[in-house]
Amino acid sequence: MIVIETKSPEETFAAGRNLGLSAQPGEIYTLSGDLGVGKTVFTQGVAAGLGITGHVNSPTFTIVQIYENGRLPFYHFDVYRIGDIEEMDEIGYEDYFFGGGVCMIEWAERIRELIPKGTGSITVKDITIEKDLEKGFDYRKITIA
Ligand code: ADP
Ligand code: MG
Repeated sequence: MIVIETKSPEETFAAGRNLGLSAQPGEIYTLSGDLGVGKTVFTQGVAAGLGITGHVNSPTFTIVQIYENGRLPFYHFDVYRIGDIEEMDEIGYEDYFFGGGVCMIEWAERIRELIPKGTGSITVKDITIEKDLEKGFDYRKITIA
């Protein structure tokens, strides 16, 4: 387990970037944390580390946003608004989870039964970002398990 403490959005971006720089095919990241904690900032860092250029934002109108101009394909899921787990089948999620790219899944707890166990060619890393207001408004604790 890795714990990274940051004191600015730039530091959280850099933590994501480091993860993206070392990302391997078949890695699946689950990303948890309250609204406004820095999930998008962190994800933008991961994308930058993968060499993805262009704007990366949370997928608002689709379940998955696909970026293919980096070192590896990057599939950014936000399953917050998912109504039924079948919606994942409809988008063909297995092609992304098992497609040799890198997946970032926000609100993964909503599709827990679909998250692979992390065996064979798949590695799952659970990432949590938390605030601690006693340590300052811009403090964030990033845990990668
Ligand atoms: P989320 O995607 O989790 O809803 P965002 O990444 O969109 O959150 O927003 C995080 C907000 O918190 C931004 O406005 C950012 O500037 C601010 N912020 C302050 N300190 C930090 C920090 N240490 N790490 C990340 N974001 C921070
Ligand atoms: Mg966000």
